[in-house]
Amino acid sequence: MLLDDPVEKLKGVGSKRKAALASLGMSTLLDLLLHMPIRYEDRRNATPIAKLLPDKPAVVRGTLECVERRKSLKRQNLWITTASVTDATGSVGVVWFSGWANDIADGEGREILLCGTPVLNGRAAEFASPEYKLLPAESGAALPQDAEWNRIIPIYPATEDMPRRLLSRIIYDCVTSPDLIVGETLPSDILKKRNLLPLKDALRAIHNPSSRQDIINGRRSLVYREFYELQKRLRETRTRRMASIAPSLAAGTEALSRFVAGLPFTLTTSQTEALEEITADLNRETPMTRLLQGDVGSGKTVVALAAAAKTLGAGYQVALLAPTTILSGQLYAECEKNLAPPGFPCFELTSATGAADKKRIRAVAREDKPLVLVGTHALLEEGVKFGNLGLAIIDEQHRFGVTQRSSMREKNDSAHLLMMSATPIPRTLCLTFYGDIDCSFVKGKPHGRQPIITRIVDARRMNEVYRFIEKMLANGGRCYWICPLIGGDGEGVLFRAEELKRGLRGIKVEALYGSMPPDAKRGAIERFASGDVPLLVSTTVVEVGVDVAEANVIVIEDAPGFGLSQLHQLRGRVGRGTKRGVCLLLEDSQKNGQSARLRVLENTEDGFAIAEADLKLRGEGELAGLRQHGDTGLRVADIAKDARILEWTREDVERRGTTGV
Ligand code: ADP
Ligand code: MG
Repeated sequence: MLLDDPVEKLKGVGSKRKAALASLGMSTLLDLLLHMPIRYEDRRNATPIAKLLPDKPAVVRGTLECVERRKSLKRQNLWITTASVTDATGSVGVVWFSGWANDIADGEGREILLCGTPVLNGRAAEFASPEYKLLPAESGAALPQDAEWNRIIPIYPATEDMPRRLLSRIIYDCVTSPDLIVGETLPSDILKKRNLLPLKDALRAIHNPSSRQDIINGRRSLVYREFYELQKRLRETRTRRMASIAPSLAAGTEALSRFVAGLPFTLTTSQTEALEEITADLNRETPMTRLLQGDVGSGKTVVALAAAAKTLGAGYQVALLAPTTILSGQLYAECEKNLAPPGFPCFELTSATGAADKKRIRAVAREDKPLVLVGTHALLEEGVKFGNLGLAIIDEQHRFGVTQRSSMREKNDSAHLLMMSATPIPRTLCLTFYGDIDCSFVKGKPHGRQPIITRIVDARRMNEVYRFIEKMLANGGRCYWICPLIGGDGEGVLFRAEELKRGLRGIKVEALYGSMPPDAKRGAIERFASGDVPLLVSTTVVEVGVDVAEANVIVIEDAPGFGLSQLHQLRGRVGRGTKRGVCLLLEDSQKNGQSARLRVLENTEDGFAIAEADLKLRGEGELAGLRQHGDTGLRVADIAKDARILEWTREDVERRGTTGV
C-alpha cells in the first residue's frame, strides 16, 4: 500500500464505510493519515479501583461479576445491564443502557477492561455505559494492544456515518500495517538539520504515539512538510514569473485618460494612487502580480476597469474572473457601460451561456483583437484560450483556490495579473501565501458616502422591524433580508419570504439563493435593482459584490452565527448611493449574550479593525477565508501557532533554491 493509493484498497472496510470516508474528503491513504486527532486519551495504564475519582477519566481492569439484566420501568424498550467489576483493591458498579452490552451477559467471571469517567451515584462511584473489552481467558499480566486499548488513543473528529471507534480502527490498522510503504519527501540533510522525523515515523507518532513528546515531534514534522511544499510551490511560480516577459502596455495611456475623464465621478486620492501603482507595473515587461485590497464599497472595480481600459488601448485582451454568476453579470454590465462605448467588444461566459454563444465567444477570444471577456469558472475551462491576453483580473480572489488562480495565469504565462479582495490580509500572511506579491490599497470610501447606521435588534421585536422596513421602502428605498443557511439551501429563504409577504403590507418580495438556476437568479437581481421588487430575501450569495445603489436597509437574521468580517461585507451592500444605509443585526437575546461581539460592528466601519477583532475572537483559521476554502493546502499547520517553522521552511527553500541542490 502506498500513500497515494485510493482508500478503496483498504482491507476489512465495507463499501458503505469507504463511501463515508470519501464524504469526509478522504480519497487516498494520505488523506486518511492526515486526518488529525482533536485530542488524545492515555489508556496505557489501569487505575486501581480504590484510586478511582469521580469525573476523572480512567481505565480499569478487573473481573466481571454480578451481571443482571432488566427492563427499564420507565421506558418499555430499554434494557438495563448492571454489573460490578472487582480488582485487588476493590469493586466498582457499572451500568449499560439498551443494546450496548449484549455480550456482557455471557462474560460473567471473565476479565474485562473498562474505559470511561466514573460518576458519583449516591456515595459510590459508578461507570455509566463505559467502553469495554472482554479479555480472552488466557490473557496474562500484559495487556493486549489494539486500536482502542493499552495505548495513547487519538480521538478523531467523527461524523454520523463514521463512528469514532470505527475511524480509529481504520486509521490504526492502516498506520500499523506492515504493507504500508511511505516514501520520504524531504532531503535527508533537512531532516537532520531541523531534527524532523521521517514521514513514516511522523505519521505513526500522530496516530499511534508512544509518548506525549512523540506526538509533539510527529506534528512538528508534518507541519514542516506542509510549509515546505507550500514555499517550494511559491518559489517555482516566482521563478517562472521572473523568467517570462509580459507586454508593456504603455501604448494604452491615452485610453486610460479617456476612461478616467469619462467617469461620472472623480477618483479619490487613494484610488488614484492604487491606479498609478498598477499602471507603473503595466508599463513594464515583467508580468505584474498585484493584489488590490480595499474595504467593501471602497471602489476597487473602477480601478480595475481603468487598468482594463489601458490594456485594451494598447491592443491587448482582458479577462475578468468573478466567483459567482451574479457578480459576473454585474461586472459585465459595468464593462458594457464603460468599456464598450470607445469600441472595445465585451463578452460574458458563464455556465449559463448557451452552447452556440459559447462556441462563438471562444472563437473570438482565440483571435488577437482586443476584447473583454468577463465570466465565472467557465473561463478556466480547457477550451477557453486567449489569442492576446494582456491582463487577467480576479475579483474577490479569496473565493478561488490556489490552483484556480494559477490556472488563470497559465491561460497566458506572460499576462499581467490583478487580484482584488475585500478581506484585509496582513502583509506577513500575504508573503506566506502568495509569495512576493505586490499590494495596493484603496482606503476610505468614495466622496459623499455617509456612514452606515448599525443596530443590534432583539429578534422578538419583529413587528417593529417590519414597520421600519415599510417606512424605509415607502420613501423609495430597497431592502436586503439575509437568512442564515439552514436545512437545504433556499429553505430558510423561501420560508422567510412567505413570512414577509404576510407581514408587510403591499410590498413585493423576491427570493434569491445559491442553488437557483442562473437565469432565475439574474431575474431576481434585476427586478430588485430596477425597483420592481423592493425587498430581496437571500442567503449570503449577495455578500459578494452585488451593487444596487438604491439599497439602504439590510436586515441580517441570526447575526451572531456569522463572522464579523462577513457581517461587515454584508452591510457593505447598503448605503452605496446617496441614501444613508441602515443595518439591523437580529439576535435572539434569550439564546446568547453575543452582543458584545456584534457591538464591534456598531462602533466601527474600519474593515481592518474588524478583521483584527475577528481574528482575536475566532482565531486565525477564519482569517481571509483562507482555511475554509482549502486555499492553502494546510491540514495540519496553523499559520499563527507554527510561525517559527514557517520561517524555517522559507529559509531552507531559499537556500536550496539558490545553491541548486
Ligand atoms: P468594491 O470595492 O466593494 O468592489 P465597488 O467598486 O463596487 O466597491 O464600488 C462601490 C460603488 O462606489 C460603485 O457603485 C461605484 O460606482 C462607486 N464609486 C467608486 N468610486 C467612486 C468615486 N470615486 N466617487 C463616487 N463613487 C464611486
Ligand atoms: Mg467589488
